[in-house]
Amino acid sequence: MKNTEQFSALQWKKIPVLDKGFVCLVDVMGDDSAIVQAARVSYGEGTKKTSDDRTLLRYLLRHQHTTPFEMAEIKLLVRSPMDCWRQWIRHRTASVNEYSTRYSIAIDAAYATNPTEWRKQCETNRQGSYGNINEEIGKELTNKEQDFHTQARNLYESRIELGVAREQARKDLPLSTYTEAYWKIDLHNLFRFLSLRMESNAQFEILQYATTIGEQIVQPLFPLCWEAFLDYQLNSIRLSRLDQEVISRLVQAGNIPATREQFILAQDTAWKNLERCREREECYEKLQKIKIIKNEI
Ligand SMILES: Cc1cc2nc3c(=O)[nH]c(=O)nc-3n(C[C@H](O)[C@H](O)[C@H](O)COP(=O)(O)OP(=O)(O)OC[C@H]3O[C@@H](n4cnc5c(N)ncnc54)[C@H](O)[C@@H]3O)c2cc1C
Repeated sequence: MKNTEQFSALQWKKIPVLDKGFVCLVDVMGDDSAIVQAARVSYGEGTKKTSDDRTLLRYLLRHQHTTPFEMAEIKLLVRSPMDCWRQWIRHRTASVNEYSTRYSIAIDAAYATNPTEWRKQCETNRQGSYGNINEEIGKELTNKEQDFHTQARNLYESRIELGVAREQARKDLPLSTYTEAYWKIDLHNLFRFLSLRMESNAQFEILQYATTIGEQIVQPLFPLCWEAFLDYQLNSIRLSRLDQEVISRLVQAGNIPATREQFILAQDTAWKNLERCREREECYEKLQKIKIIKNEI
């Protein structure tokens, strides 16, 4: 079972990502109806009458009845810079076979950054970036990067020419060097990967890969599952007990939409004495997202 028309349109088509990367669909097993078929084994024929395929798929994802989504799989060929791949490979539920720089000459391509694309370190989130470095400095950084890539590649190739083993010659190649891999994963675990890596705080580079896989491959092959994924996973918000109590206090005080000051008055007592509190800021952002907090001008 597969969505033959969409599959033929996508198979082996290299969809560009970043400057020299790509994702490419190699194979797919299953489609929306394969997941429905698996689910109906547990619910029986009766479900055909009470729920159509879309309703059933949405019910499954909403209630985290996830195993039917493991019945579908996709296999991709991807080309990614090694630093981005290092984040990608942490998703252990995929099957991976990567290009070997022990066996073959390393791919002669490195991810280069344009002068306008250098990001500043975020001050509030140690793992993130925020805004861009000014273009003048960006030009200098890009020039130095180009020189460095050339130098590193020349060093690598000179070692190879002198007979150094490929496994050792590679050790000073930069993390920006592209690698390639076959990556096969079932739809349940792919959705977990996409929820983490399409999230706005994910690193820009992996976010580009995840968005391309999601929007250009998963969406056409599994349109109903994709719609449910957007509604119940990617764009959903988890409200903790503490978040819910903040909302209750704001409602009781008649303060919705609330100002920052009103939010501060309604915050959890455990947060009150803390000058900086990440959980409080996360709560504030969630409430802003669902418009319980007024947008500050
Ligand atoms: C914003 C962000 C920041 C991160 N920062 C860091 C960091 O600083 N340092 C770092 O090392 N990593 C970091 N990671 C990686 C993160 O800790 C996870 O390793 C990665 O996101 C893969 O998630 P996963 O384990 O759920 O996925 P998968 O490996 O695909 O697993 C999917 C699910 O299968 C189950 N599972 C798989 N393997 C096992 C197992 N062996 N035992 C038990 N259950 C298993 C778990 O339920 C898991 O959630 C970060 C990730 C994100 C998104």
